[in-house]
Amino acid sequence: MTSSNPWSLTISEAHLLLARKQLSAVELTESVIQRIKQTDSKINSFISVTEESALKSALNADSILARGEGSLLTGIPFQAKDNICTTGITTTCASKMLENFVPNYDATAITKLKSTGAVLLGKGNLDEFAMGSSTENSVFFPTKNPHDLNTVPGGSSGGPAASVSAEQCLFSIGSDTGGSVRQPASFCGVVGLKPTYGRVSRYGLVAFASSLDQIGPLTKNVQDSAFVLEAISGNDPKDSTSNTEDVPAYAEYLDGDVKGLKIGVPKEYFVDGMDSDVANTVRSSIKTMEDMGAVISEVSLPHTSHALAVYYIIAPAEASSNLSRYDGVKFGYSHSESTDVWDALEKTRQHGFGPEVKRRILLGTYALSSGYYDAYYLKAQQVRSLIRQDFVKVFKDVDIIIAPSTPTVAFPLGDKISDPVQMYLNDIFTIPANIAGIPAISIPAGLIKDMPIGVQLMGPHHSEKTLLKTAHAYEQAANHGFLKPSIQE
Ligand code: GLN
Repeated sequence: MTSSNPWSLTISEAHLLLARKQLSAVELTESVIQRIKQTDSKINSFISVTEESALKSALNADSILARGEGSLLTGIPFQAKDNICTTGITTTCASKMLENFVPNYDATAITKLKSTGAVLLGKGNLDEFAMGSSTENSVFFPTKNPHDLNTVPGGSSGGPAASVSAEQCLFSIGSDTGGSVRQPASFCGVVGLKPTYGRVSRYGLVAFASSLDQIGPLTKNVQDSAFVLEAISGNDPKDSTSNTEDVPAYAEYLDGDVKGLKIGVPKEYFVDGMDSDVANTVRSSIKTMEDMGAVISEVSLPHTSHALAVYYIIAPAEASSNLSRYDGVKFGYSHSESTDVWDALEKTRQHGFGPEVKRRILLGTYALSSGYYDAYYLKAQQVRSLIRQDFVKVFKDVDIIIAPSTPTVAFPLGDKISDPVQMYLNDIFTIPANIAGIPAISIPAGLIKDMPIGVQLMGPHHSEKTLLKTAHAYEQAANHGFLKPSIQE
């Protein structure tokens, strides 16, 4: 373990040094901020860096630690995706619409992290309103993949994934509506977890599609993911969809023992024409799990092929309703040159939203309009139930499911931006978990031609303990460690 480059530490390593007083929270934060300054002109993972308030929080963390108090995350610097509300710090959603929006409250996940003494460094870039798979839909700038600056980091949590990969923070939190934590985690070689729907409060997460949205951690390894999940989970009276289930100390279950664990391989996730390198990587992960004593069997999720279509009705429908609040009156961007109130509304939305957001609003409004509601929205909800039932059935026979996280490794910047359907196809393996509300994790499975690729584990509602335990055992057995990109400073 080294403290000469504190930015390169994992959460548990940093915690040990902080607890032993071999490193102070201020030193750690300064080191991470230095790292951001040296690398972010190339990566562009941060929309804002809040150096002054970060150093203040670090000072406060040091006094907590000096009293012998605090917990694992005390003094640990983190980033939050810029669609998660932070008091006094702009929360832009990478949109012109919220460019100058400064919330006067924290999201519950932020409140919880702050209460542990974790240090907020700033806000991470994303596709506008979390709509996209490459972070190219940010109104500010695209984020680059630290493993190859000519490729995308994935999206919509591209900033969070890239910042963890480039070691500009010890962890980040993102949001996952259709894969936005797991897909960029796969592309950037980090661990990304989407918890069970309702495990983490959505209060203060700017709404995209409320029946699918969920906040989740991006970390360098599985143990860190367990620490962060524990800190942000729990019931919240401010979010009526948040669960009342107890929050276990997830990290205590990472004992490496997966003997006899039943793992299902859904045949619908290994289809003709899929990238053979990705298929081979997942197959070799399956072999590793088998060697660890897991029992592998083939399972079937017959409605998988409809998941993407269902998502692209339900998510835009909910988005069109959620985004109707941006009217230029209550908060956010307001177009100033207009003749009357309707003209103002039209111009505000015309100039405030980017093309992908407008596309989703159009799709959603169409799907919800009378005459089409039954044919599209209602039908999509019915198929959603069938997809959910597929999982319920399969989880009677197996404990968890293994599948690819993404159909390919990271693609070049600009490659898919003019072809929305190609972009949407990126989420083909991640969307079903959101539709069913189940937890899923993407963990690094190795490199394909020098680019990282993840493998995905899914489990029944509230199976995070099993998912993390399996992911951790796999991580130890696969033994490729944190996939460090080589960034020239
Ligand atoms: N890429 C998907 C979309 O564009 C998922 C986004 C997300 O999970 N926020 O909708």
